[in-house]
Amino acid sequence: MKIIQIICQILRVKNVAAKTASCQDVVLIRVRTEDGLEGVGEADASPEVIKAIVDAPFSHNIACGLRGILLGENALETERLWQKMLRRTQYFGRTSVTIAAMSAVDMALWDLKGKKFGVPVHTLLGGQYHRRIQAYASVLFGRDGAETCDIGRKWIERGYRAVKFGWEPMGQSEALDLELVRGAREGIGESNTLLIDAGCVWDARTALRRAEQFAEVRPAWLEEPLRPWDIDGYVWLRDRSPIPIAAGEAECGRESFRPYIDRHAFDIYQVDPSRCGFTDGAYIRARVEEINARLCNHCYTSPITVAASLHWLSTCRDAFIFEDCVDDSPMRHDLTLEKFQAGPDGFIEVPDRPGLGLTLNEEFVQQYLVAESGA
Ligand SMILES: [Mg+2]
Repeated sequence: MKIIQIICQILRVKNVAAKTASCQDVVLIRVRTEDGLEGVGEADASPEVIKAIVDAPFSHNIACGLRGILLGENALETERLWQKMLRRTQYFGRTSVTIAAMSAVDMALWDLKGKKFGVPVHTLLGGQYHRRIQAYASVLFGRDGAETCDIGRKWIERGYRAVKFGWEPMGQSEALDLELVRGAREGIGESNTLLIDAGCVWDARTALRRAEQFAEVRPAWLEEPLRPWDIDGYVWLRDRSPIPIAAGEAECGRESFRPYIDRHAFDIYQVDPSRCGFTDGAYIRARVEEINARLCNHCYTSPITVAASLHWLSTCRDAFIFEDCVDDSPMRHDLTLEKFQAGPDGFIEVPDRPGLGLTLNEEFVQQYLVAESGA
């Protein structure tokens, strides 16, 4: 199944707001094969940077753009192509955004493979344990406790039984941190699941103090309390925290996750298919299950990554909750013809059609297109 074309498209809304953003823009990778099939993938990174990694001309045997590496290859050979991309992009930097770009391509290759054999990606990944998963609404804190309370109430009224609050203004002061989490618990009620995402704001000692203080509002996890580079800090904190520690969204691929898994640094490993692809996502899943830790998806972009996350997470043995990006962006709602969002009971269904099981809305793509290569 020879690859004959790799198209990269960037979509962007007209007015981009300066905030902890979800999908104000999207980078699409569309891989086409000689038998007329197309697979789609995306990376959660700066779209123009991803595009440059795909488009770069040959410079050196270990500094090639992804398009040049893959044209003419057999799209079905996902593991070998992952290793080839890894080797031939070494001088782009071995971690981070290169791996994110590779992940977008890998996602598209698995979509193609599913379409070729007429099976969903979750079947190719080894088989699903879950047909539907409880979803949590993933939102930002309000400016204070009262606004956070109102936000929480809104998502519970829409049917979610779990809500995660994250990022700014957490970390400005102890008083505000406590006010925010108390507002969050008040808004969602006593019986629903509360998740707290600190957004990488503390050192390990402060994080332990907050974990002990936050225990009164019973969060199911405390996410990214530390800078993602602080592996020793995570190991120290996880040994002591009364609340389970979740992290991993910043990690790109298996090599990036390896030290955290080897050192049992987290309780919950959050894997983003738009930064790990399915090839490394499957490897990370196996390693984390081996040490009896838990897995969750990370997803804060378009419905493509929502669908990819559902396929991957449904193949994790104890998948217990799904990150549902509820950002109110046209990219989130209208990029695909299918809607991938939790229903009124707070559960989200895993797609079951071949490949990722999604169809791009081509009119929408044309309306928001700002750059394109390989067409
Ligand atoms: Mg997070």
